[in-house]
Amino acid sequence: MPDVTLSLDDVVQPFHVDALGVNGRVVRLGPILGQLVGPHDYPPVVADLLSQVVVLAATLSSVLKFDGVFTLQVQGDGPVGLVMADVTSAGGVRSYARYDADRLAAVDAAGAQGAPVPALLGSGYLAFTVDQGPDTDRYQGITELVGATLADCAHDYFRQSEQLETAILLASGADPLAAGAIMVQRLPDKRGADKDEAEEAWRRAVILMSSLSSGELLDPAVTTDRLLYRLYHQDGVRVTEGRPVKQSCRCSRDKVEMTLRSFPQAEIEDMAEDGKVTVICEFCRTDYVFGPDQIEALYQD
Ligand SMILES: [Zn+2]
Repeated sequence: MPDVTLSLDDVVQPFHVDALGVNGRVVRLGPILGQLVGPHDYPPVVADLLSQVVVLAATLSSVLKFDGVFTLQVQGDGPVGLVMADVTSAGGVRSYARYDADRLAAVDAAGAQGAPVPALLGSGYLAFTVDQGPDTDRYQGITELVGATLADCAHDYFRQSEQLETAILLASGADPLAAGAIMVQRLPDKRGADKDEAEEAWRRAVILMSSLSSGELLDPAVTTDRLLYRLYHQDGVRVTEGRPVKQSCRCSRDKVEMTLRSFPQAEIEDMAEDGKVTVICEFCRTDYVFGPDQIEALYQD
């Protein structure tokens, strides 16, 4: 019997292997996925895809310096039209998926498992933005959905972008929901370094990373320190302080009121059922209910 008290730690763990010239991240998410997915009634394949988008967003955002919101969006013309997650610089995560239940029901389960991107998302793109508030530049990266898995799409993005060479492995599991990522990034070669040796070190870093199985990455009984030791102890791996991520929506009654006020009063009153207007947050499913007096009050200054 597995120990039910164990769960993954919802932490982004940076690591460094100086001898191989790489920095990396291990991200292992458990309880947070229950909080993000729980309020929704997503079919298992959608919950799984969303778990991978969340862990990918947590991983990618952790290597960028920003003060604001990192958003990862995957959009396609398949049964799952949109999967998105955003991560604030404080580590707050919210997420959302949109899908067509009828089209999804027709998808072959084995196909969705082996090649989720073409089976579920179809053609489309993966995009991320970093929003640091008004009067700042928006940083954006975008890539077409190419390959069978989200990790394939991420690799495709890394290849095209002018960033550090990067390799990433993603895994996800159900019951309980879990997702894991390990990523290594090649640091710029040291001045005067032998090119072949540097290339060989990078290859070694990637091969060792790839030796990690999904089962290990998602096994709460194996700590992240142990995982990294298993992979890189011969090369001298060290870790720096990990950063927790947590479920955190940014909706509020004030924001909903502001949105409602942007519509004419008559239109809002038309939306009312039994005199009440209910607005449900698409991220966390909190519902905000406005009775007739409260609707009236919205339009008084
Ligand atoms: Zn919300």
